[in-house]
Amino acid sequence: MKRIDFTNTQVASSQTARNINRGVVLNLIRRRQPISRADLARVSGLQRSTVSLITAQLIRERWVIPGPVGRLPRGRRPMFLRLNDRKAILVVDLRPNESRVGVADINGNFLCQETMTTSSDPRVAAEDLAARICHLREVHSELVFEGVGISLPGRVDEKTQHLIFAPNLGWADFDFKGAIKKATGMRVELENAANACALAEVWFGHGEKVRDFVVVTVSEGIGTGVFLNGQLARGLKGMAGEFGHVSLDPDGPACTCGGRGCWEVYGSNRAALRYYHEASQTQEALSFRDLMGLANSGNEAALLALEKMFLAIGRGMRMIVTALAPEEIVVVGELTRQWPQFGSLVEKEVALGFLAGRPSRVRPAEGEMARLRGTVALVLQKHFGPSEEVQKEVEEISLGSRAVG
Ligand SMILES: [Zn+2]
Repeated sequence: MKRIDFTNTQVASSQTARNINRGVVLNLIRRRQPISRADLARVSGLQRSTVSLITAQLIRERWVIPGPVGRLPRGRRPMFLRLNDRKAILVVDLRPNESRVGVADINGNFLCQETMTTSSDPRVAAEDLAARICHLREVHSELVFEGVGISLPGRVDEKTQHLIFAPNLGWADFDFKGAIKKATGMRVELENAANACALAEVWFGHGEKVRDFVVVTVSEGIGTGVFLNGQLARGLKGMAGEFGHVSLDPDGPACTCGGRGCWEVYGSNRAALRYYHEASQTQEALSFRDLMGLANSGNEAALLALEKMFLAIGRGMRMIVTALAPEEIVVVGELTRQWPQFGSLVEKEVALGFLAGRPSRVRPAEGEMARLRGTVALVLQKHFGPSEEVQKEVEEISLGSRAVG
């Protein structure tokens, strides 16, 4: 979905304008809270009367609450506004084997989170998840839930909202969104995990000023979310950004997508475990976390496995920097814990892949909550951002008479 850069949006007229202006004001409150109506008018360029109308509506809808009353010289006491943190979102990071479910407020703070096993059958997985969601909603009955945000390792057809490509989950075309919606009666948003992380960067991170960046999520596979010219690149059927499944060697190991030698076969958590088993000549069942623990205790085979993995990630990123020349690449996943030790391997490869000028910055995402935080952004985008019809109208206006202003 295209996003409007609220900080630069011109003030418009008519219904379209009212929706855009509402988004502008809500987003300004989110970013600058607590903020007074006078400051909202000054920063947005909107008339003070317009700001008063919009904020009154937002308070009625309980998106915004009046905060502390300020003190100014000459006895004026402006009322500061902030987001209502009793509005909340149910967040889900769906992964093969184990998923994470939690509750976050609309500021992106997590109130609770827990893990649950992911069934290999999508129908059973949807039932389990819906039951967990209903339980969390009951436990947090003091909150007003605005919807469910789900990030998953796969691609969702924007039109049908069906899951159309999820090789690491092993799920064929399935209406996961419909199943959760039916079982919970809540609004559900589904998004590819890497795309969700890109949205999180824009909403909660430092991505506001960066217009070209790529998020690389490394887990069981490798996903990429491509944010170019200030927008998420979707491509045909939402399939843009599958760098993880570009074959680097047609004779390489088999990939879950049916191909061979894909980037993720060399750079994912699973790849690191394979390297470890090869080097240690063992077949013990290990998780990626176990492997990192072994590396931290000085285990040679584990150190070698991580080194190979990081090098492969860097080599694959050369495709991204050469093709898209992003300003920044953000890496998400458990592996970021090892960044101080191995990150330079990735940075070196990326620098080699850049053809001219300053190479893209590579940085690990802050904390390990990026995937869950992305789902908060996903649901908020639907409320804070203008709807697609509105965006279409805006594009028509700006292409046509430029009657905006
Ligand atoms: Zn593949």
